[in-house]
Amino acid sequence: MAKNKENHCSFCGLPESQAGPLAMGLEGLICNRCAHAAVEVFDGETRERHNPIRNDFKVPTPAEIKTYLDQYVIGQDEAKRVLSVAVYNHYKRIRYYDEIHGAQKKQRRDATGLTIEDVPVEIEKSNIIIIGETGTGKTLMARTIARMLNVPFAIADATTLTEAGYVGDDVENVLVRLLQAADYNVQAAERGIVFIDEIDKISRKSDNPSITRDVSGEGVQQAMLKLLEGSVVSVPPQGGRKHPEQQLINVDTRNILFLSGGAFDGIERHIASRLKSNVIGYGATKTRDSIEKDNLLKYVEPADLKKFGLIPELVGRFPVLTSLHPLDSNALRRILVEPRNALVKQYQEIFRIDGVTLKFDDEALDAIVAKAVESRLGARGLRGIMESLMLDYMFDLPTLPNGSTLVITKAMAEQKIG
Ligand code: ADP
Repeated sequence: MAKNKENHCSFCGLPESQAGPLAMGLEGLICNRCAHAAVEVFDGETRERHNPIRNDFKVPTPAEIKTYLDQYVIGQDEAKRVLSVAVYNHYKRIRYYDEIHGAQKKQRRDATGLTIEDVPVEIEKSNIIIIGETGTGKTLMARTIARMLNVPFAIADATTLTEAGYVGDDVENVLVRLLQAADYNVQAAERGIVFIDEIDKISRKSDNPSITRDVSGEGVQQAMLKLLEGSVVSVPPQGGRKHPEQQLINVDTRNILFLSGGAFDGIERHIASRLKSNVIGYGATKTRDSIEKDNLLKYVEPADLKKFGLIPELVGRFPVLTSLHPLDSNALRRILVEPRNALVKQYQEIFRIDGVTLKFDDEALDAIVAKAVESRLGARGLRGIMESLMLDYMFDLPTLPNGSTLVITKAMAEQKIG
């Protein structure tokens, strides 16, 4: 190597002054960033070799998916059925294309003498939008399905996303999280599930396409189309901005299932006015009043999402639409005790580990539920309330005699959280 001349990384070509210290090999030099990128590539490949995607992956039936969801998610029956079918169809679709590709490789011919590749029916993806107030189980359902299927799962918050070039997360970073969840096994990530929360917060402010660019909303929606439509997207393995010299990982989003959730505050207005004009238009028997007494959300249609401010292209890429009910006190009460990982069961386990039996009087549970209803955070409020209630008891837990029982009464609950 010539003296007095600056060393360069043999991989990205950057000079040492920009790339930082370089490690020397027999034939060349490597900078820190390229070394890390190389490790990721090798790690991913090793994992794929040792942990290949199983082609015998059995797609559970909608009934099996729903039964699994029932163990963790209380109520929301209609949404569970819609989701179960959509997820079933999604993974069946993957299998369908796998088989077609397999057949194409073998150039198998069917009875008519056509190769299979001449005839596939295009099955569209079943990306899903779930509409419902905060804390009603949108994320929980997406997460539970991913766990059941044992596929990588990532959550992104739409409000932190921006189109490339603006401050914030590039839309591609959603895939970085999925890759991380898949331990950089690209093949696994390509069959994962992504939940995009708060999709309603990137709506444009009016129904009219804007003349001036709307950075916060419409631009992000446009950027998201690329992920949703099923294309190969290059992502920087560590996230953040793409650098020209950075090694990128290509992720094919064709088989990634996208679920989106949002509260869509005020969408009832659009639903009601559409239903009202239908009522007038078709002379239906339902009066406006009787419609408004129902839970309007269950009548939601793609047109209402467009009115709310999602661009038609985005709405079109979420063919499945479902809504969740607000949780009443009866549902909150069940959520406290029934799911496999119900909060009450979790605290009982924490106490059991220290040899103490923990019990809750019914009235104590009622007091917790009443507080959660007051907080208007749906089931999300329950956790915080339980923490405030149990904090002092957990503090003293190690001093309680082994084999003792602690009963949380209504008076105790009211004293701690009232
Ligand atoms: P969001 O609808 O805002 O996405 P989450 O799914 O994140 O709400 O729910 C927040 C918390 O409340 C979760 O930890 C979950 O355990 C609980 N929860 C919400 N809805 C339900 C439900 N229907 N059944 C059981 N637990 C629920």
